[in-house]
Amino acid sequence: MTTTSELKGQRIIISGGGIGGASGALALALRGAEVTLYEQHAEFKEVGAGLQIGPHGVKMLRQWGLADEAISAGYLPKHMQFRDAVTAEQILSMDFGEEFREHYGEPYLVIHRSDLLNLLVDAARKAGARLVNSVKVIDGRDEGDHVSVDIQDCASQEVSTVTADVLVGFDGTHSVLRKKLVDDDPVPSAYVAYRGTSSLPDDPEMAGLESVVGYIGPRCHFIQYPLRGGELLNQVAVFQSPRYLESLMKGQEAPDDWGNNDEFRDAFGHTSEKIQGRLSHMWLDKWWQMADRDPLTDWVVSDRIIVMGDAAHPPLQYIASGAIMAMEDAETLAQYAADNARSGSVHWGTVLREVSDERVPRCTRIQLTSRLWGELWHVDGIARHVRNETFRMAQRHGWFHYADWLWNYDPARREYLTDPSKGQLPAALRDWEYNLTTIARQADKLTV
Ligand SMILES: Cc1cc2nc3c(=O)[nH]c(=O)nc-3n(C[C@H](O)[C@H](O)[C@H](O)COP(=O)(O)OP(=O)(O)OC[C@H]3O[C@@H](n4cnc5c(N)ncnc54)[C@H](O)[C@@H]3O)c2cc1C
Repeated sequence: MTTTSELKGQRIIISGGGIGGASGALALALRGAEVTLYEQHAEFKEVGAGLQIGPHGVKMLRQWGLADEAISAGYLPKHMQFRDAVTAEQILSMDFGEEFREHYGEPYLVIHRSDLLNLLVDAARKAGARLVNSVKVIDGRDEGDHVSVDIQDCASQEVSTVTADVLVGFDGTHSVLRKKLVDDDPVPSAYVAYRGTSSLPDDPEMAGLESVVGYIGPRCHFIQYPLRGGELLNQVAVFQSPRYLESLMKGQEAPDDWGNNDEFRDAFGHTSEKIQGRLSHMWLDKWWQMADRDPLTDWVVSDRIIVMGDAAHPPLQYIASGAIMAMEDAETLAQYAADNARSGSVHWGTVLREVSDERVPRCTRIQLTSRLWGELWHVDGIARHVRNETFRMAQRHGWFHYADWLWNYDPARREYLTDPSKGQLPAALRDWEYNLTTIARQADKLTV
């Protein structure tokens, strides 16, 4: 994408240099804005390994002129295969070939997190954004005709104040700026993720892996896919922590290390040997306790301050769209601001309201669906057999209509602004309640 000048003269401060903040800096700088991004860490880096970027995310990269580079740095899987984790039987294979690309307009990409972040950071710099490390945003105030932002140098601890037209909080799930909207806590899911990467060509057992493969099973799942043109194997092992559930049922605080290595070693005993044989490849020094937050009804802190990305809508990871939502947020903000600027000057209050009204229902639906989709993956007993048969039916009768709302989205269509009810779960599922205590009781009763 070439740079345009609709936002020339607009000064924007972004807090946070993850995928969301870097995307925001790029999308806004491409419209001519003067962007300064502050990242608290000394370097831009992502913890973890693979990211699945569905066609809705590739569409954003295409807008910014980065799709081809991202595709050559990543890998285009042939299918997304779902397998029952107990029997290893394939229950659904979603073909990412010609028909998929025609339907969604873009391919399904998997890419190393650091490779994607580096691409975004480099492109944002080239587009003219100023990216500053080791500086923490500690507060922001709307002063009517501008924002004042308090920043702290992470080395000297010195605090100073800078000004801009707008402050965008892409400061992640423990966001300082989100607290101006709501004083909420993360919602733990009782699930924990172990990750690992290893050389794919040196792994004869995995020869021929060309797809995203997800084994879904009672209280756990296991994901595998190639990265970096097939040079790297990415694996993610996720399971429900019995110690977390036990604390919940006893009304006690969970131990800090719930999901630790002892639990990991016991967690996959009921699954296929195909999974058990792979667990030695996982990193044991770190694990991720999975949590999301309840959806917000509004992201606008004031006419000049907004939160986005995980700061606004941290999801559970099951539909692989957290980073993509942040990219969509970035592009929506830049696009709607540029559209507004074409009328003469930018009225940021109107822009931020429009952006929030479009994005809140979209991200709410993704957050709610992620919770439901994860629970569906992890069911046991008769529900597991019904789930498997439902997946087989989707294979027989077509699955596009289940995925269209997610993958066939373009913020330029302003589709949730036009119809906010699209942000709800489908009517047939709306009664479903995400309740960890109920889930814990079920886990207690059911075993394979
Ligand atoms: C196991 C797992 C698998 C996932 N898989 C996928 C996937 O396949 N596809 C997908 O799209 N998403 C996936 N996600 C979700 C995705 O990783 C996140 O939603 C996304 O990275 C959020 O980006 P962000 O920039 O909003 O926040 P973050 O990545 O949290 O970035 C926030 C940044 O802000 C900085 N910061 C924080 N506070 C301050 C401050 N006060 N001042 C300055 N800087 C600050 C932080 O240091 C950080 O760099 C997955 C998540 C997990 C846990």
